[in-house]
Amino acid sequence: MRELLRCTCEAAGCDRDLGEDQLMLTMETDGGVRRAYECDCGAVTVTVSR
Ligand SMILES: [Zn+2]
Repeated sequence: MRELLRCTCEAAGCDRDLGEDQLMLTMETDGGVRRAYECDCGAVTVTVSR
C-alpha cells in the first residue's frame, strides 16, 4: 500500500503544496500517524492519518 504524503499548507492565503521536502517530523501515536510539515511561508501544518 502506498501512502499519500501530500497535503496543502493551512496558512491563510498560502495554499502551497506540501510534500516530503517539507516534512520535518513524523510521530506514531495511538490515534494514527502525525506528520508536521514546515511550509516555505513559515507555517507548520500537522496532519493525522490512520
Ligand atoms: Zn504556507
